[in-house]
Amino acid sequence: MSSARILDGKALAEALLSSIRVKVEQMRSKAGRAPGLAVILAGEDPASKVYVGNKSRAARKCGFEVFDFKFPSGASLEEIRAAVQKCNADSLVDGILVQLPLPKGMDSEALLCLIHPAKDADGLHPLNQGLLLRGRPGVRPCTPLGVMALLDLAFAPQDLSFGSELFPACDLSGKQAVVIGRSLLVGKPLSLMLLERNATVSVAHSKTTDLPAVCRQADVLIAAVGVPELVKKEWIKPGAVVIDVGINRLESGERAGKLVGDVEFEAACQVASAISPVPGGVGPLTVAMLMHNTCSAWLRHAALA
Ligand code: NAP
Repeated sequence: MSSARILDGKALAEALLSSIRVKVEQMRSKAGRAPGLAVILAGEDPASKVYVGNKSRAARKCGFEVFDFKFPSGASLEEIRAAVQKCNADSLVDGILVQLPLPKGMDSEALLCLIHPAKDADGLHPLNQGLLLRGRPGVRPCTPLGVMALLDLAFAPQDLSFGSELFPACDLSGKQAVVIGRSLLVGKPLSLMLLERNATVSVAHSKTTDLPAVCRQADVLIAAVGVPELVKKEWIKPGAVVIDVGINRLESGERAGKLVGDVEFEAACQVASAISPVPGGVGPLTVAMLMHNTCSAWLRHAALA
């Protein structure tokens, strides 16, 4: 029996993409050109190819110009560096996305540092990460932004519906938030963004003792782990809001091939007050937030923001 409200990330992402498309139509003549997104893919990883395809499609739907750079797995780091530098210097490019992971042996950290911070569509450059730490304006990373949008939806007054750009930013004063995962891509920046909203934040990871007990304290529980269905119903405080960032393909058993999150979804629905599904939760919002970051950069580069 399911009782939790399902947080529809797909519908929210569609609403966000439409508002970006409208903004682009309104501002294009003033800016003198469309927003430009450079998408850099190295190697043959099938999941990365799907992600890059989704991102390029969404960008075109928003009216962006997309500059595709595709490198075979044998390409050298030098070739990819040259593409990033070309995009840094190109006035038609507002956002640069380097799809991770890079092929084995390539130093993604060095490459991310090479992206000009003003064109850092993914918000992973150390300067933007430092601005987040300091609570200053800067480009925020896309997946944590998507999680925050789902929390805004979860805590919005019930009579609000899609149509506006986003819901009012939720205030998490007095709420205990637990983030499982401490990656640079998701867990760490997300914990800072939750702090900005006044949540009391705990960050759990693979060395945490008694993870179920830590999770049971959470009014807001966010799983960004990469372990299929790790979080059980018994780990969830009744009435908690649960956001599932994980994307895992089951490799064996009756459900082999199925995409699941880090949370046992059906069981969690019986205790949570609201929960994001996988697929259709954080994933589409990550893509939408990439468009949001690129559109904002475009407006700044055209001195319109
Ligand atoms: P990551 O870099 O591998 O980090 C995973 C984190 O989980 C680490 O901090 C790790 O702890 C922790 N962890 C691993 N096993 C654990 C366990 N048994 N108990 C508690 N903590 C554990 O992964 P990521 O890049 O953050 O991604 C996490 C998941 O989100 C993946 O499934 C990924 O595919 C998905 N993802 C989805 C989107 C989206 O758009 N929906 C975007 C990005 C990522 P240690 O630090 O101690 O190793």
